[in-house]
Amino acid sequence: MRDMDGRDDKVRGLLVDSCCGPCALAVFLLDDFADYERHFLFYNPNVHPFREYRRRLESFEELMSSMGGEFTVLAYEPEEWIRAVAFREESRCELCYRLRLRRAADFALEADMATLTTTLFASPYQDHDLLCRLGESVARSRGLEFMVWDGRASYRELLEEARRRGMYTQPYCGCLFSERERYDRALRQRKEARKASRERGSA
Ligand code: SF4
Repeated sequence: MRDMDGRDDKVRGLLVDSCCGPCALAVFLLDDFADYERHFLFYNPNVHPFREYRRRLESFEELMSSMGGEFTVLAYEPEEWIRAVAFREESRCELCYRLRLRRAADFALEADMATLTTTLFASPYQDHDLLCRLGESVARSRGLEFMVWDGRASYRELLEEARRRGMYTQPYCGCLFSERERYDRALRQRKEARKASRERGSA
């Protein structure tokens, strides 16, 4: 498809905000991306601690090298994420999504790419509706298209394939809160009880 200036969308390309190697693998495996010239962006200030960040980055770089993917790694800036969510921890996922999508959209604009998407769409653990809303708003404000896709149905197979390739698959989303929720059973139980009580109240 060509734009009004006669430029090919495929040439202008797709910027793929990339949370980790396994989710980026979906972009190589799914047909949705076949028509795009892709560039992957690794910007993950949300990941804590640094050793975990480094492990995810290594896995991502190994994937790019084995699949011949073009990519850019931005500096690790956990302070950016901390400032974005400070005093608003209850809304942290929305703020976290917005931070990474804005940075990715700015990068896409500077690199003259037409379309933005995120590998977060691969995971059933992310809020797809929220990602769609934020992604479309962030992209529209910069004159970009936002590509929505859904890898949730094949997530289990994706992880199996990632493990088969020897890739690192992380046990929690990324931030210190998600790490605690993963390993603090009492906290998880309290959260689930609060959620169940809210649902009972609204029924
Ligand atoms: S749980 Fe995941 S999406 Fe939510 S704030 Fe933490 S790292 Fe970001």
